[in-house]
Amino acid sequence: MSEVRVRIAPSPTGPLHLGTARTALFNFLFARHTGGTFIFRLEDTDQARSTEAYELDILEGLHWLGIRWDEGPGIGDEPERGSYGPYRQMQRLERYEEAATRLLAQDQAYYCYCTPGELEAERRRQEAARETVRYSGRCAHLTPAERGAFEAEGRRPVVRFRIPPNRTIAFDDIVRGHVEIDTAALGGDLVILRSDGTPLYHFTVAVDDAAMAISHVIRGEDHLSNTPKHILLFEAMGAPIPQFAHLPLILNPDRTKMSKRKSQTAVADYRAQGFIPEAFVNYLALLGWSTGTEEEVLSQAELIERFDLSTVNSAGAVFDRERLVWLNGQWIRRLSPDDLMDRLRPFLQADLDAGRIDWLPSDEEIRALLYVVQERLPTLAAVGDLIRFLFVKNLDPDVAAMVPKRWDAATTAAALSAARRTIADVGRVCWEADEIEPPLRSLVEDRRWQAGDLFMAIRVAVTGRTASPPLFDTMVALGYERTLARLDRAIEKLEAQAAAAP
Ligand code: GLU
Ligand code: ZN
Repeated sequence: MSEVRVRIAPSPTGPLHLGTARTALFNFLFARHTGGTFIFRLEDTDQARSTEAYELDILEGLHWLGIRWDEGPGIGDEPERGSYGPYRQMQRLERYEEAATRLLAQDQAYYCYCTPGELEAERRRQEAARETVRYSGRCAHLTPAERGAFEAEGRRPVVRFRIPPNRTIAFDDIVRGHVEIDTAALGGDLVILRSDGTPLYHFTVAVDDAAMAISHVIRGEDHLSNTPKHILLFEAMGAPIPQFAHLPLILNPDRTKMSKRKSQTAVADYRAQGFIPEAFVNYLALLGWSTGTEEEVLSQAELIERFDLSTVNSAGAVFDRERLVWLNGQWIRRLSPDDLMDRLRPFLQADLDAGRIDWLPSDEEIRALLYVVQERLPTLAAVGDLIRFLFVKNLDPDVAAMVPKRWDAATTAAALSAARRTIADVGRVCWEADEIEPPLRSLVEDRRWQAGDLFMAIRVAVTGRTASPPLFDTMVALGYERTLARLDRAIEKLEAQAAAAP
């Protein structure tokens, strides 16, 4: 095992976000590529917003994507695994307290007695004077007597970490290169423990990354400005400073930041729409990274082999749904028939539950259709559109969709009647696509029709749709009797329409 130890540290305050999934994936790929250790840590100190349902959604979503970790909760049946635990921050509270006590003892931190009202007044004054908003440091050097007086008033202090006012924090980010941030921009001394003793994000992250011997912090670019605070905390705790890699933001096509409100960001929604994990992982890997070649369709094993943190792009990564859909189709084509059937079943069940089909296709029925759908499915959920017509008792085809531009209802009815006779004759002998097509083409030639006109009319008559899998295969799948019955029903409707129109 190498010394590489990386982590994903989600907060269970929302469903698994695709940005979090991308961060998890890059950590996972880096760990697997380097032979390092990948850790899952739950940042659950925001008790008001954390829920068990979100926690489950995150664990399940990452499992679905095939992302596995070596330490943390959610491995097999164990509550958690690993020798750096616990891996839930709410179970690590005394560690933060200990670390804070040490910083207080070394005078790297101090008690601040300012009330929210006082801090608010300070902020307003700074804003009015157009100064940078920052904690002034009023409590940075209280005498024991001053502290005693505040305590006597019943004030409960927070703990603040001293941020040196005039220092430049520099680090070499693996993705972004050399970064320098002035400590004057950090907002003044940092609250690390609230007055009730609960720790804040910057503190827990630094304490845990140090305690868990994290070697590389790989996370979203939105955390870039937090990094100097963490570096100062590592220094104060005498902990080695990990390397940093800040991943580019994921952007909407209009280059605005992807947000829950404006964009589809929950991984579970993509899953529900029939994206498959092989494709989703492949797509996430390409959000900010590429192999440097034309290759786009990459398995998890190939990604692990090629992944290189130093070739991650620093420019924002635009989320291109069409490319995701394309990759999904590519991956669906690579599935074995049995595997694809297993994955389609829940989507067909959903069609049944929603009343879009009248019965659930049997395994044999699905298997017979796989060769027509597998090549055409953009997503698993699209299976209904392709084969629904087979599993409904009655179809009510739209007359307008059936009548080609060059024809009217009467012509179409006559043409379908002729086609019906041909189909009935040939089908009585042999019901196969190769057998049905030639006589219909001869019919088209004899009558000097356009093949497209007749075939579109038949297609709508038997499937109810203007686009379907190949027509003759479709008819074979539907069966001889049902095909004829649907043609009869269509002819009836067309004749009624022709009779009604003068
Ligand atoms: N809980 C933080 C997040 O999900 C972790 C950030 C970090 O990786 O340090 O954004
Ligand atoms: Zn204060």
